[in-house]
This record gives sequence, structure tokens and C-alpha cells, in this order.
Amino acid sequence: MNVYVLVGDPVTLIDSGIPGQASLDQLQAGLAKNGLTLSDLRQIIVTHMHEDHCGGVEDIQRHVDIPIYVHEQAQRQLTLGRTVHEQTESFFDSFIARCGAADIFQRRQPYRPKEWRNVRYVRDGDTIAAGGEELNVLYVPGHSQSDICLWNERTGDAFVGDYLLEHISANAFIVPPDQDQKEREKPLIQLRESLRKTYDLAFRTIYPGHGSVYHGHRRVIDKRFAEHKERCERIYEHLRENPHSVYELSHALFPFLQGRSIFLGLSEIQGHLDLLEEQARAAVQMVGKVAHYRAI
Ligand SMILES: [Zn+2]
Repeated sequence: MNVYVLVGDPVTLIDSGIPGQASLDQLQAGLAKNGLTLSDLRQIIVTHMHEDHCGGVEDIQRHVDIPIYVHEQAQRQLTLGRTVHEQTESFFDSFIARCGAADIFQRRQPYRPKEWRNVRYVRDGDTIAAGGEELNVLYVPGHSQSDICLWNERTGDAFVGDYLLEHISANAFIVPPDQDQKEREKPLIQLRESLRKTYDLAFRTIYPGHGSVYHGHRRVIDKRFAEHKERCERIYEHLRENPHSVYELSHALFPFLQGRSIFLGLSEIQGHLDLLEEQARAAVQMVGKVAHYRAI
């Protein structure tokens, strides 16, 4: 995965890499190539709350006590009390049962950041001074609920985390609803809105969380929409034969998924079913604890 350093006042690290000494060593080696050390860093901006992007924050803060900028959605995860933790667990248990995968699948505990200090929450429309430039904060949820894109309007640089990777479509992860929400978010629909929202912006150079720096974000967004459409059609074909559970569809489309990655398949299928439901092409009926989707 990629982290970026913006050299200039204030020297800014975008994302931290995974937890652990090996990752920190790699970061220090990268900084040294540019004549920098950890103590030159003035702040960290986290594109989203996935372990590979923000898991190294605690290790870095042990060396330098610098502020962390993150979207305000991360607050839930950063202050996760016992009740929220238990609610999260029971949400995932019932989601997996609803998919018809309760006997098949063992879920991994979600990443829980611990002792972050000096956290500054940002939201859509904020700006952050970084590397001698101004970065606009765009809220782009879907891949996670905390995704932000950092856009330098002057240069056209866009730091996109995982919501706009060039060669793969990052999973739109199903996550529990917030305290004040009844229903879960529909992450694929959110992701599509985020892609739409940034389509017309004058992005020039895209700095992704994984893979190489690239140009031409509209081409990538067009490709993502085409993929969503194609996947919806494939699912719809199955539904036209007879009703299916989320797990059955996942197994039909992604038979190679095993162990913990099964969750990625369930999440991906559920996202597309949300989309088909929104387009009034699929409907759901509960059979016991399991949701069965059919074509309409
Ligand atoms: Zn991610």
C-alpha cells in the first residue's frame, strides 16, 4: 500500500501504513531518501479507517506527538465503548445469518485503533494546510464510512485512498448503522454517489492508496459503473431462475473465495442487491433468518 509525504510547510504524511515495526522501518527509510526523519513530520491525514491505512498511527505517535486529521465518522471507531462493540458484533452475526452463511463463515474482529492522541475531525468542505498547499476535504463514503479524498484545486493532485483505485474496484463494505440510525447504509449506492460527485472535478494526478499514480479518473469511474451494471445483470440472471440467498449468489459469482474472504463476497453481492432493489428489479423475502432475493 502507499503512503505519501507532502514536503513543505507543514510536512504532512497521508496515511500511515500497517501497525508494527517493519512498516515503521519502511516509512523511516522512505523519509530518509528525502532527507527527512519522523521528527520532521508535523501532521498525519488518514484517508479512511482501515488498518492498512491508519494502523501505523500509534507507532508514529510514540515517536512524534503530531495531530491526526480524520473524517468525523471515525469518531465512533475511535471511541468504541463496550456497548458499541457488542452492537457491532451482533450486527455482523445477524448480517451473516441473513446472508445464509452462518454455518460457513468465521468473521474477523474489525480493526480497533487504540491510543490515538490529538485527533482533529474534518468533514466535507473543510480545508487542511499541508505541504505548502491547501487540500480540500471531500467526503466520499462507500468503501468505508470514513473515506475522504484530499484535492488540491491549484495543482489538480488528488489523494484518493481506496475509493478510486485504477485497476480494482475496492469493496464497498457492509457496516453496522450508527447509534442514531435504524438501518445500515447501502455502501455500493454511497460509493456510486461519491464517484459521481467527483467525476466533474478537475483531478489531474491521482495518488491512490494502492497501485501506481495515474491520470484520467473519469475513465476509471466510467469503468466502475460499467462493472456495477454487468455484475447486476449477472445477479439478475440468477434471480430470474429462482430466489437466492446472498451466500448462494456469492458462491455462484465468486466460487474461489474461502475462509475470511467470504465476507468480501457477501458484502459485494449485498451491495449489488441493494442497487437492484433500488432499481425495483429485485425484492427480498425472509425465510426464517435468511433473506431470499427474487427478480421482479
Ligand atoms: Zn481500505
